[in-house]
Amino acid sequence: MKFYWDNPWIGGNSSDTTLESGDPTHFLTWSVTGAGDQKAEMQFVVCQRPFQDAWRFCHKCFSMFFDGYPTKGVCPQGGGHEAQGYNFVLDHH
Ligand SMILES: [Zn+2]
Repeated sequence: MKFYWDNPWIGGNSSDTTLESGDPTHFLTWSVTGAGDQKAEMQFVVCQRPFQDAWRFCHKCFSMFFDGYPTKGVCPQGGGHEAQGYNFVLDHH
């Protein structure tokens, strides 16, 4: 994580934060630039983005299902869903 701020004598204040490593889909960052020529207060926020992985594609019914439970749900094509391909990570709210 990189935090940047500038509180110059002349000109506007600025601040920024960037995630330099780690998965950007899992973290949100932002900064709030304070006002004033001296001792401007900057605020940096880092929070974990709510997410849920283990969403899979079922090759039998061509739909997405949550594969995080021991059982594979009820597939319209009979039996349980059968995962194929990628593991999808979705935002969870
Ligand atoms: Zn299915």
